[in-house]
Amino acid sequence: MSSLASADVRRHNLALIATRLAEVGVASRSDLADATGLARGSVTALVRRLEADGLVRETVQVAAEGKGRPRTMLELSADHLAIVTLLIDADHAAAVASTLGGRRLARVERRHGRPMGDPARVLDVAAQALDAVVGEVGERKIAEVSAVVWAPVGGDPAIVLADTDLGWGTVDLLALLAERSPGFASLMQAGRARLVADTQVAALAEHAAAGRPSELVYLKSDSGIGGAVVVAGLPLDGSHHLAGALGHLPVVPGGAPCACGQHGCLVTVAGPDVLLERAGLSELARDDGLTAALDEFVRRIRAGEPAAVDAWEAGAAELARTLQIVTLTVDPALIVVGGYLAALADDLGDRLAKIQPSVEQAFLTAPPIVGSLLGRDAALIGAERAAIARLLADPTTLARA
Ligand SMILES: [Zn+2]
Repeated sequence: MSSLASADVRRHNLALIATRLAEVGVASRSDLADATGLARGSVTALVRRLEADGLVRETVQVAAEGKGRPRTMLELSADHLAIVTLLIDADHAAAVASTLGGRRLARVERRHGRPMGDPARVLDVAAQALDAVVGEVGERKIAEVSAVVWAPVGGDPAIVLADTDLGWGTVDLLALLAERSPGFASLMQAGRARLVADTQVAALAEHAAAGRPSELVYLKSDSGIGGAVVVAGLPLDGSHHLAGALGHLPVVPGGAPCACGQHGCLVTVAGPDVLLERAGLSELARDDGLTAALDEFVRRIRAGEPAAVDAWEAGAAELARTLQIVTLTVDPALIVVGGYLAALADDLGDRLAKIQPSVEQAFLTAPPIVGSLLGRDAALIGAERAAIARLLADPTTLARA
């Protein structure tokens, strides 16, 4: 074997060990040998290297009820590193720092107040949140920053393609952040910054939380309406990075014009702005933000308040019809609904079951619909896991300097 090939194999094996530890938290050397199929001797040598690099440490696990001797276990340490995730939605910018083992170090959240069509003002606020969180990680080196947006992302370097919830066209978000944050600029220069579409990472996190069904449709609404389709463990991206953009399925022929250029998109008849307006909650959304207004919307639907119920009836009928169309496009094992829809998952499930013919009449029954298992942090958790997986795929680059 050439030395180049053996270096590749070694890197691959280091990644196997580190990734396994990230998945399970703690494991013994023999657990790792069993899980990876590597020989016990190789595991010992690989662990020694990861320990020397400051990525793994020993920890003692005491046997239950005092039976047997305490076992020497291993866990990811990487105490010299942190990852940062910056979430930008239609209301807030939230920055979070975590360890590679997934422990939260700091979280800073700021409202930007949704200045439509003004990326500069949103990014002023986002940069403040980011800098504040970076200031809290202490001596740790930032291994990666992911900026997560509620919009499709594409290109190289990646840019936001369009964010209809914020009235954006294409926006070079990473460049705008770099102009505002010198710390971020240097991370970007070092190739440690990424731009990620929130629905894809959220859908992947929900997919893992739901026990990795064979196909999953994810539909989420908390500003506009977004979606993603996970097949064989991977989110469908598409030739234009638009696969699963369910909010822009044109469901009403000749309907109202949409910011995307089409007419009658789902978001024009079932988007939060439309439903909140119908329910008489626009003012609350403007004053207290969309999240608070949608919480109130759900509360009023449950309380049977007529305006809220009417608004929901109209919106839910369109959402269920759209899910019926998507069901026959993907034939999913499971549909997960996120954002405020999580609280209304049972109702949507009933509606879909009602319009989808029963198995006696057709070849397909309605798939189950469940509410998000991870709540508002689904995208954050998904982005963190993706970052950790990417970093651990080449642990040698993470060695303590
Ligand atoms: Zn549209």
